[in-house]
Amino acid sequence: MPKKKIATVWLGGCSGCHMSLLDIDERILDVAQLADIVKCPIVDGKELPEVDITLVEGSVTSDEHLREILHIRAQSKTVIAMGDCAVTSNITGMRNYFNLKEVFDTAYVNAISNDTEGKVPNHIALLKLHEKVVPLQEVITVDFVIPGCPPNADTIFYVLYEFLNDRIPNLSEAKKLKYG
Ligand code: SF4
Repeated sequence: MPKKKIATVWLGGCSGCHMSLLDIDERILDVAQLADIVKCPIVDGKELPEVDITLVEGSVTSDEHLREILHIRAQSKTVIAMGDCAVTSNITGMRNYFNLKEVFDTAYVNAISNDTEGKVPNHIALLKLHEKVVPLQEVITVDFVIPGCPPNADTIFYVLYEFLNDRIPNLSEAKKLKYG
């Protein structure tokens, strides 16, 4: 079987899902036998080429994220939402209870312990944050979801390994199986 191409992407999340991905530890060698990791925020910031599988952490929070997820969908045969922020918006979506001005005021204008001199920094304004955070499936078709905050490393490995072997994962089987 020819090697597949994998990418991992980090949108509006805390990086905890990628930390969990790293917790597959030596099983990365099993992945490496079947696929090349062509883009990953931990490794480098290359443009996303056409890939077989993209694992996406985090929600869509801004114009930049929206552009990125649409590009990911166009470039990826399979898009996997990795973690609850990607699946439901979860922690990232907690700001949806407030309007954007309240969020900015709390974080930058009224916060006691910051060095922003009571102003929203220019680079934050440039992000063009959306009024509401949304999970991936509100803007693209998602092929598979891995729930959890963060998802268990064994589950991430199971799902990835199944897709790399052209099988559709069954999450209820994830805990029963051993690989490697
Ligand atoms: S699902 Fe949890 S661990 Fe993953 S990005 Fe969101 S808050 Fe972080």
